[in-house]
Amino acid sequence: MRQNIVAGNWKMNKTVQEGVELAKDINSRVEAIDPKCQIILGTPFVHITEVVKTVKSDKIAVAAQNCADKVSGAYTGEVSAAMVKSTGAKYVILGHSERRAYYGENNAILKEKTDLALANDLLPIFCVGEVLSERESNKHFDVVKSQIEEALFHLSAEAFGKIVLAYEPVWAIGTGKTASPAQAQEIHAFIRGLVAGKYGKEVANNVSILYGGSCNAKNAKELFSNPDVDGGLIGGASLKAEDFLSIITAF
Ligand code: PEP
Repeated sequence: MRQNIVAGNWKMNKTVQEGVELAKDINSRVEAIDPKCQIILGTPFVHITEVVKTVKSDKIAVAAQNCADKVSGAYTGEVSAAMVKSTGAKYVILGHSERRAYYGENNAILKEKTDLALANDLLPIFCVGEVLSERESNKHFDVVKSQIEEALFHLSAEAFGKIVLAYEPVWAIGTGKTASPAQAQEIHAFIRGLVAGKYGKEVANNVSILYGGSCNAKNAKELFSNPDVDGGLIGGASLKAEDFLSIITAF
């Protein structure tokens, strides 16, 4: 179901205690307003159980930042989708560019992860986006197209309906550079068109497509006002309650 979403990606930041404090702070600020969006906290694995216990607002859900591409067994250090589900997390971020770049996650691996997430009733927030050289050589549409086609287009329309997409140009992540509202709208509309071509207009109109890449209090309103931008996946600005709230209230 298409909805406005502001999702935080805490990455590898904060101890469990610090994370609980942040979640508490966000929760009390959210309870004091009437947010016009679903809020998601993407925490490290070890924080999830405590953060789930901490958040009371029904507007806030919790996400893992990854899950394994295997069901279970001798995979030291990995965390399965079933384990994530058992923490109380509702969402899982998959295909973040840092996972693709530093941990070798390709479209085939992400296809497996997506299937396991869905089989365990987790809702994937599936990230796509091009690096700077691809944008500069005008390959960004092709890159995003193959990321989506190769990892997601084997899904049934019903299963695809559970996916949230996040367009995150890699050159904008953590750099302070943001895609312009027009650049974001252009590629979000392209992505929605791609989904329409595969699954039809109804499915395409129902998918939430988030923008990520140095989204902050100053630029969120303009980015979110585009017809095909349904919210944001927020890194740096999700680590302080005040900053995160100012993005939430951009809706
Ligand atoms: C991200 O990592 O998903 C992200 C968008 O980071 P930042 O907001 O810090 O650019």
